[in-house]
Amino acid sequence: GFRMGIVGLPNVGKSTLFNALTRTAAAQAANFPFCTIEPNVGEVAVPDARLEKLAEIAKSRQTIPTRMTFVDIAGLVKGASKGEGLGNQFLANIREVDAIAHVLRCFEDGDVTHVEGRVDPVADAETIETELMLADIESIEKRLQNIVRKLKGGDKEAVQQERLLKQALAVLEEGKPARVIDVEPEDAKAWKMLQLLTTKPVLYVCNVAEDEAATGNAHSQAVADMAAAEGNAAVVISARIEEEISQLDPDEAAMFLDEMGLAEAGLDRLIRAGYELLNLETYFTVGPKEARAWTIRHGTLAPQAAGVIHGDFERGFIRAETIAYDDFVACGGEQGAKEAGKMRVEGKGYEVKDGDVLHFLFNA
Ligand code: GDP
Repeated sequence: GFRMGIVGLPNVGKSTLFNALTRTAAAQAANFPFCTIEPNVGEVAVPDARLEKLAEIAKSRQTIPTRMTFVDIAGLVKGASKGEGLGNQFLANIREVDAIAHVLRCFEDGDVTHVEGRVDPVADAETIETELMLADIESIEKRLQNIVRKLKGGDKEAVQQERLLKQALAVLEEGKPARVIDVEPEDAKAWKMLQLLTTKPVLYVCNVAEDEAATGNAHSQAVADMAAAEGNAAVVISARIEEEISQLDPDEAAMFLDEMGLAEAGLDRLIRAGYELLNLETYFTVGPKEARAWTIRHGTLAPQAAGVIHGDFERGFIRAETIAYDDFVACGGEQGAKEAGKMRVEGKGYEVKDGDVLHFLFNA
């Protein structure tokens, strides 16, 4: 599945947010730096109203949403790349995520200590990005050393790697993240294998005070401007509110949101923004037993989409019976769609579309 790593300076609201996301008290929030020492991992259902609709039409006995994994990554402080705080331990955790949710403190509260003694989310974002850039520089330099012997042997992959590493190093030494580099398609795979931290897409999470959740504030606006300039994304959220909502049942939560002037829970927006940032889409499988949502990257071909369910589906892929979500709903289900000629039979080259209702045929 897809993984988002939650990072941020101490005391910005990471644990509060993570708790709300996973509805557990496991990652305990405390007004104390480094309170979340082990990376905490939680799975979150991706909210999608279409799934309930499909289940209703098909009279499925249950719905199974698709999931996104959040990892609460502690220990990122100024100097972390040089071993400050929890040191380099967080780096491995960040390498393993697909995107970074960077929580920024946008709330003023004299009772909650800010590590720098002031609220300035843009400067905080730079502090963290600098650590990630330094960590990348260090790992590139190490790898350039390690690659020397392979280069002497004339290893083609090593030549490509060295070229990409040097390209990244040049950009990083100018003080820019490696994600600014436009990689040629033939280098895409090798580039990804380098697992540079500053190539991960970033979603800035502006943690604002409770009464600013609907409007945002000047801090969150500054972050939004920065994100836009970088090609990253930003959402406004109040971690405290989300924590409260996460303890309510759905009806109470809806009332509470209404009172706060919020159209939907911030966490839903956060998850959706993560989905967009990662270029993710959802397809469905629908039957009497269950209606289920599955996550793929935009542009995934039918066999690989089938592979998300099971490797055998991909290996033995024959074809996919496909009904677009809107057709499925308009025709009152699979039978109606078939009769209306809305069920297509697609082969190996079919690019699955967001909302497709799929039925795979495969050789066992
Ligand atoms: P972490 O160190 O980034 O994981 O931060 P925590 O989630 O532990 O939060 C640090 C402190 O800030 C806790 O006392 C939280 O209750 C408090 N906090 C988190 N979000 C907000 C907020 O939106 N407003 C206010 N006033 N306090 C918050």
